[in-house]
Amino acid sequence: MSGRRFQTAFYQLVSRILDPALCLGCAHSIKPLQFYCVNCIATLTRVNNPCGLCGLENKRGETLCAACLFDPPRWQNLVAPLKYQGLTRDLLLQLKYADSLHLANSLVTRFIDAFANIHPAPEILLPVPLHHQRLLERGYNQAFEIARILSQALDIPVDTQSLRRIRNTASQSGLSAHLREKNILGAFAYQPTRPWSRVAVVDDIITTGSTASEITKTLHRAGCPHV
Ligand SMILES: [Zn+2]
Ligand SMILES: [Zn+2]
Repeated sequence: MSGRRFQTAFYQLVSRILDPALCLGCAHSIKPLQFYCVNCIATLTRVNNPCGLCGLENKRGETLCAACLFDPPRWQNLVAPLKYQGLTRDLLLQLKYADSLHLANSLVTRFIDAFANIHPAPEILLPVPLHHQRLLERGYNQAFEIARILSQALDIPVDTQSLRRIRNTASQSGLSAHLREKNILGAFAYQPTRPWSRVAVVDDIITTGSTASEITKTLHRAGCPHV
């Protein structure tokens, strides 16, 4: 933990002890050791009966949705417990643009059951890497912060060495699905520290899936079969 990060975590801890706890969503007071009030919890919308491949709500009531049966994505399994809307969206945007580790903690720990139910469990967590230039500018990688929380909760190690971003790509936001695919092409390199065969790639948000797809392609080509 860096000095600045330790300081932030320390102040957050102290302020939680000294002040009555406030809901992260609406700032109303809540019971200690909770992050959200009941009203805000209700607005963190979970995906009901998700498809195991695209993570979207599956109205067929089966493991895979019709779209994935017809044209499956490259990866073997996907878990994305929350819909990117309302409070979830606000919190994830804050997480992307501010050093707010407690936000990641509040979301991941609350929905940990979705990740704990993956069988067989992955051997290793690979956070989607930032290019070192971007990491220097931002000071932290939100995917790594999420992976760290998952790692502690699920007892699966994090590997930040094997998967690297070798190209500093333009931001994906605002690009069409086709341009996202083009933008991210060849952006990653995978040289595993150990020959992992079941890995979980960790990111904060999945939209068109172009980043996840490009990483999966890179991992498959390097001999990792289950992503
Ligand atoms: Zn609230
Ligand atoms: Zn699907």
